[in-house]
Amino acid sequence: MNDVILVVNAGSSSLKFQAHEIQGDKTLALILGGSLTGIGGSRPAFKVTDASGECLVNRQLEPAQAKDLGAAQEIMAGWLQERIPQPPIAVGHRIVHGGPKMSRAVLVTREILDYLDELVPLAPLHQQNNLAPVRVIFEHWPEIRQVACFDTAFHRTQSKVVERFALPQEYYDRGVRRYGFHGLSYQYIASRLREILPEVAAGRVITAHLGSGASACAMVNGVSQETTMGFTALDGLPMGTRPGRLDAGVVLWMLEQGMEHDEIQDLLYNGSGMKGLSGICNDMRTLLASNELSARLAVDYFTYRTAESIAGLCVATQGLDALVFTAGVGENSPEIRAQVCNHLEWMGIRLDPAANAANALTISQPDSRIGVYVVPTNEEQIIAQQTYDTLTGVL
Ligand code: ADP
Repeated sequence: MNDVILVVNAGSSSLKFQAHEIQGDKTLALILGGSLTGIGGSRPAFKVTDASGECLVNRQLEPAQAKDLGAAQEIMAGWLQERIPQPPIAVGHRIVHGGPKMSRAVLVTREILDYLDELVPLAPLHQQNNLAPVRVIFEHWPEIRQVACFDTAFHRTQSKVVERFALPQEYYDRGVRRYGFHGLSYQYIASRLREILPEVAAGRVITAHLGSGASACAMVNGVSQETTMGFTALDGLPMGTRPGRLDAGVVLWMLEQGMEHDEIQDLLYNGSGMKGLSGICNDMRTLLASNELSARLAVDYFTYRTAESIAGLCVATQGLDALVFTAGVGENSPEIRAQVCNHLEWMGIRLDPAANAANALTISQPDSRIGVYVVPTNEEQIIAQQTYDTLTGVL
């Protein structure tokens, strides 16, 4: 068997992984991909499929078996060791925050791990989980090389004006800047557009990554100019449980009302967005199917603010050639795409309703001034590629 690269994406309640084989021609081929979901919950599950989508594992787990991320990692490692006896040549990790220093993927050393640890307060719900498997592999398999691939790195091309807040220099120097996130997804979309729609890729493109987390990114020739998330993954578009853009005065008001830090943090990360607005849940499918007025309000807020942000991003690109929808909602919901595009009709967007309903690649009409596309994202593939490129760069 050829050398294998393992990709690990450890979140707060899920652990996703993929194995890619390095082919003779130095391209990567997916062998299998899996996930442990519902970690720490009452119905954890373990699923693996092969490259053709054939099911290899589909198991409900006892809550105790996947009580935390460590337990889930053991299940993943045990299964992988049986399935792929040779150790991976490297493991690529999704790391949400690379801070000001990381503008590309890097081979992880103890020093880098210490630096990434310092960034935990900037992504309180993500960074610690992302780093946990890095530490476990350092401990148990120190000979395996590990590569950190950052959600922030893609945006380090943005201008000084774009990455600043209107705060004194001191805060910028201490790291209070707009970093931006979902960079692995945007990099995948940029490279995929180069393959399938090269003339679109070379132009002014806004990609709307609409999933549980949501953001939009303005790119010119595949280079990030501006994005809606900022210092943390709270800013910008409304999301499943996060509010998106919020007047900082609201947080001051909450403090004045006596709310504690942890209570505010929990509200902003877990209790706001679609869940907070609807009072029902964070799942867009459920909200779209609901007759409740509050569900309608949440959907309307989401599509209005998404469109408004897309229009704002056009300043960074000085016009727009293409709008790309991706991630769970963006790839699968014709209704959300139609509502967002309705708000943008004045810009010259004309959707093709049949193509939109079919989740086709091109969903705009031929006479639409701006092309509209649906491109499924694949963050794990970009992590595998960045890991391979980092390895070959340092060898
Ligand atoms: P994550 O950020 O967790 O990776 P995803 O990109 O998987 O999130 O997106 C999850 C969201 O996508 C959920 O809100 C889910 O309801 C939504 N979604 C998935 N399929 C559809 C669909 N057919 N219509 C509307 N929303 C959908």
